[in-house]
Amino acid sequence: MFDYLIVGAGFAGSVLAERLAVAGNKKVLLIDKRNHIGGNAFDYYDNEGILIHKYGPHIFHTNSREVFDYLSKFTEWRNYQHKVLADLDGQQVPVPINLTTINTLYNLNLSSSELEGFFADKAEDVKQVRTSEDVVVKAVGRDLYNKFFRGYTQKQWDLDPSELDASVTARVPTRTNKDDRYFTDTYQSMPLYGYTKMFENMLNHPNIKIMLNTGYREIANEIAFSKMIFTGPVDEYFNYCYGKLPYRSINFKFETFDKEQFQRTGTINYPNDYAFTRITEFKYLTGQKHHKTSLVYEFPTADGDPYYPIPRPENAELYKKYKALADQSDTHFVGRLATYKYYNMDQVVAQALSTFKKIQAEVGIKSMH
Ligand code: FAD
Ligand code: UDP
Repeated sequence: MFDYLIVGAGFAGSVLAERLAVAGNKKVLLIDKRNHIGGNAFDYYDNEGILIHKYGPHIFHTNSREVFDYLSKFTEWRNYQHKVLADLDGQQVPVPINLTTINTLYNLNLSSSELEGFFADKAEDVKQVRTSEDVVVKAVGRDLYNKFFRGYTQKQWDLDPSELDASVTARVPTRTNKDDRYFTDTYQSMPLYGYTKMFENMLNHPNIKIMLNTGYREIANEIAFSKMIFTGPVDEYFNYCYGKLPYRSINFKFETFDKEQFQRTGTINYPNDYAFTRITEFKYLTGQKHHKTSLVYEFPTADGDPYYPIPRPENAELYKKYKALADQSDTHFVGRLATYKYYNMDQVVAQALSTFKKIQAEVGIKSMH
């Protein structure tokens, strides 16, 4: 008899399994339909012995001390500040758009304050920022929007930015200084021995049993448990009773080159050319030394595993209906797919930790560790 059946061994499921088992002394069965733990953050060594991320590049960054301290119990870290270039008009320039981007692209020599004037001159007057187009044209104007955002977004989402919530392109800021880091969070580092090792450490406890290659419908009626935590797609849990929630998927194409380095930085975005959105070279992220190098190309697609919830008003409406069912249910719904939120890893960890605190209060678990 298990106290908890947890469906999905990604960040949401694994953090809750660890907290319930260790701090709550509960017996947990953690299942996943895939043949590995770690969810979309899973990494492994490819045939050449290079550490790669099976579901696309995962760079850890957070402003939350609580999240960083919590994960630090299971891994050492390697400091890593991710940098991205956009390949356009025959040049490679920094993204987010910054002082170097503009000076390189237009062959100028502006100062930071002159760049503020430059942007102000180009910016469109948008009264109410609602869409992903609004965010960008209000900040930098239409020309830069067309170069950096329109084509990339069309490829990534198969939608025009005007059809997506502002929150999507708002993930990428605009800068007037030369800071060329993709993220500016307080904590930016990669698990020193990889994500999978970190998950193994998290789940290595006698109160946690793991069952892989197992969908929850296969066993939900076979196994005795008191409570369920579900981290898969919320619409699937409710048998798509209100219709399918749209998710965007990606085909990952991996390639290894017989040379030490392939490109100038961790990720190069291709906003306007090719069917893929970006190429990431893993060794930049992991710090691994190897005489060969492995890359991943991301080809967005409608079919396949659900990776991205699609933030737009009609999808939020549909999710609201599922959320109403979830709120009435005895099951806890946690994570990117179960709460239909475009969350980064750290946000999912924070959500799982706060769910644990809620459960703790409900069932009167006294914290042991
Ligand atoms: P998941 O990791 O999706 O785990 C859910 C698990 O549930 C899966 O393993 C699935 O197999 C299992 N499951 C689903 N249904 C069932 C079922 N019926 N029965 C059994 N098991 C089931 N975040 C960052 O912070 N930084 C990044 O750089 C970053 N890059 C990303 C790049 C890509 C291409 C993608 C797709 C995501 C990226 N993310 C990044 C986001 C990150 O992947 C997620 O925030 C995080 O992995 C979500 O964890 P989760 O546990 O909610 O979901
Ligand atoms: N985006 C873009 N051009 C870029 C980078 C990002 O248009 O060069 C837009 C695009 O819509 C993308 C979103 O901003 O989906 C968020 O980018 P991010 O890099 O955060 O995406 P993720 O890493 O989550 O795929």
